[in-house]
Amino acid sequence: MTGRSTVQHQFVDIVPDTLQEGVVYVCIPYTTAVHLCLCGCSEEVVTPIRPTGWRLTFDGIAISLHPSIGNWDFTCQSHYWISHNRVHWDRQWTPAKIEATRRREDAHRARHFAVAAPTPPPPTSDAHVSARRRRPTLRVPKLLRPRSWLRHESRRHHQPGTD
Ligand SMILES: [Zn+2]
Repeated sequence: MTGRSTVQHQFVDIVPDTLQEGVVYVCIPYTTAVHLCLCGCSEEVVTPIRPTGWRLTFDGIAISLHPSIGNWDFTCQSHYWISHNRVHWDRQWTPAKIEATRRREDAHRARHFAVAAPTPPPPTSDAHVSARRRRPTLRVPKLLRPRSWLRHESRRHHQPGTD
């Protein structure tokens, strides 16, 4: 298998529409990394960074992705590791091994989400923000107001300079 031996990385907020060959785009807000298959076939490889996906490490100079990247769905069927911005080509897997790994990953994912499912969604700060923007009058009972409002209010009763 011929392919490149090194990659560059780029931290991005949004993955660009046009990807450059040999660049691994790391998108932290979406916890994902994207690159074009390193064999040169230009297929887009998406590696979600999460407990059930890939683990990304960055040592300040180079990135590594773990585990290996196996592009079984592509015609090229390439298989490689990205470690410290170097590409280590691995052997292609047999259909049996691909199938077994897929089954294992599916089971892992199922276990993960079975555990994760009962966790309530993280609290959104929207309610808090809009409540704060609202002027502390009428609608919000005094006891429910955050302390900062009370401080704000009491300060307003003071003459400037008496604090
Ligand atoms: Zn490829």
